[in-house]
Amino acid sequence: MKKKVDLAAVLLALSLLLTACAGGPAADTPPATGSPETQTPEPTPSEEQEKTDEELAAFYSSPENLYLLDLTLPLLEEGYVDADTAAFARASALSLTRYARNAGKAAPDDLVGDGEELVELKNGWLDAIGATEDYTPFAPLHFERSTIIDADVYPFMVRGSSANWYFSLEDVREQGYVDFFSSYLRFAPLAERDFADAREYLKDHLPEDNPPVKICVGFHQGNVTTSWFSAEFQYADNDHNRIQLYHDWDSAAYSLLHEYVHYLRREESLPSAFCTEAITEEISTFECENRLQMLCSFDRENKEAFLSYGVWDEENDCLNYRNYEIMAAASYYMGYSGTYISIARYAVTHPEKMSWNYLSYEEGACLARYITELYGKDALLECSTNADLDELIGKPVDEFYREFGEWLLDRYAAFSRS
Ligand SMILES: [Zn+2]
Repeated sequence: MKKKVDLAAVLLALSLLLTACAGGPAADTPPATGSPETQTPEPTPSEEQEKTDEELAAFYSSPENLYLLDLTLPLLEEGYVDADTAAFARASALSLTRYARNAGKAAPDDLVGDGEELVELKNGWLDAIGATEDYTPFAPLHFERSTIIDADVYPFMVRGSSANWYFSLEDVREQGYVDFFSSYLRFAPLAERDFADAREYLKDHLPEDNPPVKICVGFHQGNVTTSWFSAEFQYADNDHNRIQLYHDWDSAAYSLLHEYVHYLRREESLPSAFCTEAITEEISTFECENRLQMLCSFDRENKEAFLSYGVWDEENDCLNYRNYEIMAAASYYMGYSGTYISIARYAVTHPEKMSWNYLSYEEGACLARYITELYGKDALLECSTNADLDELIGKPVDEFYREFGEWLLDRYAAFSRS
């Protein structure tokens, strides 16, 4: 039978340790010396461990359990982890706190982190309770309780310099804490670098106020809503706008930078599909390195075909997204495939019906790139309507589109192996 333990008591115990270790008011009794096992006082009722030190020693003698010693906030309660796992985390926190207090060990300011002193403290404790493995930090993230409107779906968040990340309960539970945050740790640093590239490219065109964007990792929601989106920038207002990630990390890697560019350009989200989508796609694909896309594995199953088309990046062993977009755009232009072809080809067959709004993402991105080469990025980024674009190119769209087609086919021929 398990006893329900008050989480507040665990947190209080941790905070007392921090105060003591940070040079705060001296503890009532001087630190004990000698073996912490023999010196451990009887626990007060509020501090009673749900697991004995013997149970903890057995638990941490399995290397796959050591991540729990990160002792991050969501590990201490049922939610991201199950009730029994959380009980182990709380008991560990209490026992570790007691160990540090009784052994007079100095600890850093925080029990979460990867500081040498803290890792040493945790390993000293593991030794003291008789565990056979050593701890190295797994994901020493500073989680905070989320305060967004659907905090019940996304109970915890982590702050970054470009983005604050919110993690859905269901996703972490389904993938498992370790798998989920392993992926996050691979993903987030690349996202930060990609986001910095995008800000640099757009530095003269950014809104004045640019707080970190909210990114909600809610893959499970892709199964119930908007199932064909891999990600979406949802513009509401400064408090509620967010990038919503659907499906899985692969899908997120594929489109996150595009969504972030939407966020940076949010004041320009106007009723021109070209100004909204094509320019955004151009920036994320052609103007930024887009490291995240290199993480995508869903293209690997077609690697042989992509190699034969000249759109595989052999050095990084991933799709070459720029070449891929040029190839896709060229095939639309030539009328080989796709939903968009019958529309885009109006430029040839029914020029009077050609419009900026009719282009696929791939053709739109390539056309935006063509305009950037001809007129410079500032001229393009200053366009927010189709009328602005018309004025910039100074000729009928269908005529311009045919000129673009020649440029596009040249680009395609440069790498095409067919
Ligand atoms: Zn978009």
